This record gives sequence, structure tokens and C-alpha cells, in this order.
Amino acid sequence: MTEGTGALDPLGGEGPLLLMGGTFDPVHYGHLRPAEEVRQRVGAERVVLVPSGEPPHRAAPKTPAAHRLAMTRAAVAGFPTLGVLDWEVQAAGPSYTVRTLEWLRERLGRRPILIIIGSDAFTQLNHWHQWERMLDLTHIAAVRRPGTSLEALEPELARALEGRWTESPAVFHEQPAGAVMAFDVTRLDISATAIREMVGAGASPRFLLPHQVEEYLSAHGLYRQEP
Ligand code: ATP
Repeated sequence: MTEGTGALDPLGGEGPLLLMGGTFDPVHYGHLRPAEEVRQRVGAERVVLVPSGEPPHRAAPKTPAAHRLAMTRAAVAGFPTLGVLDWEVQAAGPSYTVRTLEWLRERLGRRPILIIIGSDAFTQLNHWHQWERMLDLTHIAAVRRPGTSLEALEPELARALEGRWTESPAVFHEQPAGAVMAFDVTRLDISATAIREMVGAGASPRFLLPHQVEEYLSAHGLYRQEP
């Protein structure tokens, strides 16, 4: 299944395919605004959000993938510049990003792929499954996230990225993969962890995430503490 919301094919369109993977537990404006800013600067049609099934790099989220997918769909509904790819949720086995990229590459041929990664995750990239292979499959947009630095890279990652850094997004339209660019985006100190804690403590997460997502998590009693 590869349908996004509405009639839009998440892999449709032309130019670079922009992706943002995550647990989206829940999706919030700290995901959506940086994604939109990268999209505008790259001059791409759309950013496709890819909720993970079983994330291999962290403790499994308590929230079932079906809820995380539904919240992500609710967030993008009505915005043609956003899409959702449900492949990782539908696929059996761990959600390795490299696996998703291989799957996409088979379908997209030489069309450029650009994955947007926050600085907290980007600086850990060399701990991801087959991370060096990823550099052959996609470009990377590293967005600065409050409280973390893009500069603190372990030597093996810094070495692998040598010669790949670019300051112009033009390469994302010209080559299928392999370049890395740092993006200064509006820094929103929002995390899903803080939102879950807030809701667990009985407080409202209003204005940190789209209204439809707030309604969904409230209607389904997500993140509430057991009495
Ligand atoms: P959690 O608090 O549960 O760890 P999270 O808020 O970090 O969740 P994820 O779904 O793990 O959200 O993040 C998906 C991607 O979005 C990652 O690449 C992450 O770095 C990035 N991201 C998340 N929040 C922000 C933010 N506030 N600013 C920039 N990037 C972000």
C-alpha cells in the first residue's frame, strides 16, 4: 500500500522526492515547519512523511503504528505540499531507513531523493543500519534542532561526508543521491516526548501540533496516564 491521503500519490510529481521519516508519536510542528522550509528552499513539490513501523534505533513506541499513521494522515490532510507513505507501517520486520530507500530507488530510477533529518538523528547516522549504503541512495538535508549541534560528528561519519557537503540545493535536482546540506530552519523546541508527558500530566498540547492531531489523540485517549 502506498496511498497517501486523498487522491495524491505520495511518489507522484516531478523533481526531487523529499522524505521525512519518524515515529511521529505524535507528529508536531517541529516536524512540519522545518520540512516545509526545506521544501521551499529546495523548490520541491511536496514532502512525504514516512511513519516507522518498528523503529530499530530506539525503544519501541508504545503507541500502535496505526494510531501514529492516522495522526500523520490527519496532519497532512488538505495540504497538497505534504504526503504520507505508509510502506514502513505495512511492511513486516524492522523499519530500517535503508530498506525503505532501496524500495523507493527501485521505483524511482534516477529521480533524486532527499531525506530530511533533524540534527539529533543526523549526528547518530553512523549507527544506523547500513548507513554508508544510504549515502548512495539519497541526498540528506540536515536541519538544526534546538539543543543539538550539526558539527559534533564522530570521525567515521565526518570522513564519510567529506566532499559531499553542498551549500546549494541545485544538486538535489541534478543528481539522484550523495550530497548533504545543512539547513538553518526556524528552531522549534518541540518534541513528541514533551507532548506525551504534557498530555500524560493532563495538560493541553494545543498550538504545538495541528488541531486535527490534538483532536485525534484526545478522542482515542492517547498518552493519558492510567488511573
Ligand atoms: P521523540 O520525542 O518521541 O523522540 P521526536 O519529537 O524527536 O520524537 P521523531 O518522530 O523521532 O520526533 O522525529 C522524526 C524526525 O524529525 C527526526 O529526524 C528528528 O530529528 C526530526 N525532528 C523532530 N522534532 C524536531 C524539531 N523540533 N526540529 C527539527 N527536527 C525535528
